[in-house]
Amino acid sequence: MVVVMDERATEAQIELVVARLVEMGMDVHRSTGVTRTVLGVVGQRRPDPGLIEMLEGVHEVLRISEPYKLASRTFKPEGTIVNVGDVRIGGDEVIVMAGPCSAENEKQVRATATAVRKAGAKIFRGGAFKPRSSPYSFQGLGEEGLRLMRDACNAEGMGLVTEVMDLSQIELIERYTDVFQVGARNMQNFTLLRELGHTRKPVLLKRGIAATIEEWLLSAEYILSGGNADVILCERGIRTFETATRNTFDVSAIPVVKKLSHLPVVGDPSHGAGRRDMVAPMARAAVAAGADGLIIEVHCDPDHALSDGAQSMYPAQFDRLMAELRIIAPAIGRSICLEPVARRGWGS
Ligand code: PEP
Ligand code: MN
Repeated sequence: MVVVMDERATEAQIELVVARLVEMGMDVHRSTGVTRTVLGVVGQRRPDPGLIEMLEGVHEVLRISEPYKLASRTFKPEGTIVNVGDVRIGGDEVIVMAGPCSAENEKQVRATATAVRKAGAKIFRGGAFKPRSSPYSFQGLGEEGLRLMRDACNAEGMGLVTEVMDLSQIELIERYTDVFQVGARNMQNFTLLRELGHTRKPVLLKRGIAATIEEWLLSAEYILSGGNADVILCERGIRTFETATRNTFDVSAIPVVKKLSHLPVVGDPSHGAGRRDMVAPMARAAVAAGADGLIIEVHCDPDHALSDGAQSMYPAQFDRLMAELRIIAPAIGRSICLEPVARRGWGS
């Protein structure tokens, strides 16, 4: 249920409505828009809307028909902007995150970070804890990987996004990262999502390998309902009958989600395509379809990568892609980092 307050509602009236709803056993999420305050009301009970409508300062009470509430555009018509340092995801600018699948060693992390920063990436990606299909594949460097990536990000002036696979890793990863990544395999790890709802760092939530858009938004709802409003959705391809690509990159999910939800959406064409010659076309398509950003695997020496080498771009390829995106983004009314980026200050 959404309670839309009157434009002239006073703070005291708003607080009274909140208190009344809490008394009824509901959780209330307040969103202050440009002209009015909206209260997202969630919980297992069903309060009588008529009773709420009678309260002073209430403009109207709406039922949200979607099963997800706080993630829906009915609750929050204007798009959410997630701030990562001074980088705004969900605004006019298309934000590119790039880096290797996994942190492997200091030289690889540093060289890749410098290359992607120079090409225009604003956030560095890289895994320290890797969800590999086989237990015999490289599982990531753990804390050492986090340290290497944090140092590289500080040196380059970039934010960091890295995957958290398990509840037990949250505290450690939070010390190093700017954004938690929830991988496709964990999209329905509800205990992990609930706990991330209690953290104060943004969460990049990948779409599950076989998840519908509704299931994906319900997973976002777990994080939002825990009190963390900074969720970024990430389309990374789904499993279909097609075997020519690693996954089927669902470009249509981007405009669908933009319509249903106020949350920013980014595209991951690397996992979507699974082969580096298909990454640029899918990245261009994602931006043209309205993605708020991209997350792309780039490796300074992909032929020797310890994970996902085949889909990791060479730095020169990534550079070329960024040049193409600088033509596409303005054509659809978006901006994008214009020039190869000089080192930026980060967190200092
Ligand atoms: C990754 O980003 O390297 C990764 C494992 O992604 P996904 O969860 O989308 O497979
Ligand atoms: Mn990967």
